[in-house]
Amino acid sequence: MQILLAKSAGFCFGVKRAINLAFNTAKKRGKVFCLGPIIHNPQVVEKLKLSGVQEKESLEEIEEGTVILRSHGVSPEVMEKARRQGLKIVDATCPFVMRSQKFVRRLTEEGYFILIVGDRKHPEVQGIMGQAKGKVLVIDSPEGLKGLKRSERIGVVTQTTQTLANLKEIVAQVLERALEVRVLNSICSATAQRQLESRELAGKVDCVLVVGGYNSSNTNKLAEICQKVNPHTYHIEEAGELNPSWFKGAKRVGLTGGASTPNWLIDQVIKKVRDFEKNRAKA
Ligand code: SF4
Repeated sequence: MQILLAKSAGFCFGVKRAINLAFNTAKKRGKVFCLGPIIHNPQVVEKLKLSGVQEKESLEEIEEGTVILRSHGVSPEVMEKARRQGLKIVDATCPFVMRSQKFVRRLTEEGYFILIVGDRKHPEVQGIMGQAKGKVLVIDSPEGLKGLKRSERIGVVTQTTQTLANLKEIVAQVLERALEVRVLNSICSATAQRQLESRELAGKVDCVLVVGGYNSSNTNKLAEICQKVNPHTYHIEEAGELNPSWFKGAKRVGLTGGASTPNWLIDQVIKKVRDFEKNRAKA
C-alpha cells in the first residue's frame, strides 16, 4: 500500500512562530498564561502545558505575570484590558491576521462599513470584528448578504481559512450594493495551497486521512474539501482513532494535515497504517 503525504501537511509559518514564542517565553519566565488554546490542537496544547504554558479562558483568571496572545489575535478591547491589568504581553498574532486587523481599522476610520467573510464564533474573526467598532456584518456564505444594507462604501475582508470561490461569489454580489468596494484577499496562501493540494490528493487515492484537531477550522475545511472529492475520507486527531477496516483493498492512501498539526502526530499515523499492513500480511 502506498501512502501519499501532502507536501503542505503540518505546521504553517504562523503556528510555528506562535509555538516557538510560547515555549521560549515559558523557558525564560517559568510560567506563562495563554488566552484560550494557543493553537487548535489538543495534543500540542497538552505538551505546552507540561512546559509551563497554562491556558486560561479570560483575563479575569490571570492576576499577574505574562500572557501570550495566540496566532488568531484578539480585539483591541482585550489588548487594552491586558495592559490595564499590568500584564506583560507576548503577542503571537500571525502577521497575516494582523494585516487584516490593520485593514479593518484603517477602513473603519475612513468611514467604510465592514463585511467579514468567515465564522463569527471563531477567535480570529472576533479579533478582526473588534477593529470595526460595531459597523460590521459577518457572513459565511452569499445567503448572509440578505442582512447587508446598501452602503456608499464597503470594505470586505475574509477569515484566513476561507475559499477563494466563496469570496469571489460574495464580492460579486456586494458590488451591486455599494458605490465603492475595497477588498483585502486575506485568505492565507499557506491555507489555499494546502486546500488545493489536498483536493488533488483526494482524487488520486482510495482513502484519505485528514489529521488535526476537531476544533481546528482549517482542518475541518480540509476534511470537507476531501470528502467532496473522495467519500472515503476520515478526519482524525491521532493515530489511536484509526480503524483497519478503512484500508481494506486500498492501494493508495492519501494523508494530509491542518496548519496546527505537528509532524510527530502525522508520523505516528503513518507508522500505525504501516503496522496494520504488516499485521494483515502476517494473517
Ligand atoms: S494558517 Fe496562515 S494565517 Fe493562519 S496562522 Fe498559519 S500562516 Fe497565519
